[in-house]
Amino acid sequence: MAAKLIKGAEVAAQIRAELKAEVDELKAKHNLPPGLVTILVGENPASVSYVTAKQKTSHELGFYSIQDNQPEDIREERLLALIDKYNQDPQIHGILVQLPLPKHIDSQKVLYAIDPNKDVDAFHPVNVGRILIGNYAFLPCTPAGCQELIVRAYGDPKGKEVVVVGRSNIVGKPMVAIMLQKRAGANATVTCVHTGTPKDKIIEHCRRADILIVAAGVPKYIQGDWVREGACVIDVGVNRIGISEKTGKAILCGDVDFDAVSERASYITPVPGGVGPMTITMLMKNSVMAAKVAAGLVKI
Ligand code: NAP
Repeated sequence: MAAKLIKGAEVAAQIRAELKAEVDELKAKHNLPPGLVTILVGENPASVSYVTAKQKTSHELGFYSIQDNQPEDIREERLLALIDKYNQDPQIHGILVQLPLPKHIDSQKVLYAIDPNKDVDAFHPVNVGRILIGNYAFLPCTPAGCQELIVRAYGDPKGKEVVVVGRSNIVGKPMVAIMLQKRAGANATVTCVHTGTPKDKIIEHCRRADILIVAAGVPKYIQGDWVREGACVIDVGVNRIGISEKTGKAILCGDVDFDAVSERASYITPVPGGVGPMTITMLMKNSVMAAKVAAGLVKI
């Protein structure tokens, strides 16, 4: 079987069009442009490009959007005071602090200072708890993007065997929590494997999966014969395996042996171009939701 490609950029564009309509309605009916501030400390080139892309998308969607640049040597108390200012600002519904922060700043302290209702990355312990309980407004962007790809390409995971490879706080664990939810787009039977799982058991679990979600950070880890015929395979991994002589750019691969796995899967995400393009779009979705929560249109 040659798997169908799940194209993240196409799904992301579709979701952004839906969000644009929602933002237009929030503005017209409630005078409520979603407000997002992205805080950048220093000038790390990768961080600058991520923040620029987030700002560009939020402008395209019609948000009230602020880019707040702070110097590399900003004191921690000053950054915390800035977050407090945005926590109090009724026009700002989402606060994103671009990571990594300089070493003299305690990132955890900074992230935990964000009002959970404005924590559009959904990393705050209050939001992690809300997700486990099943009473939440936002989901962490990368696993939420995986869920959208699954639902829109493959269908509702209800009753399916989902196997998640990896248990990090930003991908694996929230992915498990999302797929476990007793609601549409989830309600699956979920297994999570990790470095504590013996390799033969990892292979055994992967072979059972209707939906296999891989976030291990190990290049081409999942082999063709570990995948069940007809499975939906979501490859979160982004691994740099060299530099192209032609373009001078990094050569990327996922955590899945793409060619071999494509022979057996029914759906597969490519790397790049699968999960990656979804992340910013899900951040925008969270920001729209944060505006609705602030206005009392959605209750948590
Ligand atoms: P991480 O924090 O390094 O976590 C990796 C997880 O995989 C850990 O739980 C680890 O187990 C497990 N693992 C590692 N090697 C394994 C193996 N051989 N067998 C089974 N489990 C194994 O990584 P992450 O932040 O979750 O990211 C995972 C990958 O996704 C990376 O390639 C990253 O670049 C990519 N990523 C992509 C996006 C995107 O937008 N596309 C976003 C985030 C991350 P232990 O817990 O036992 O150590």
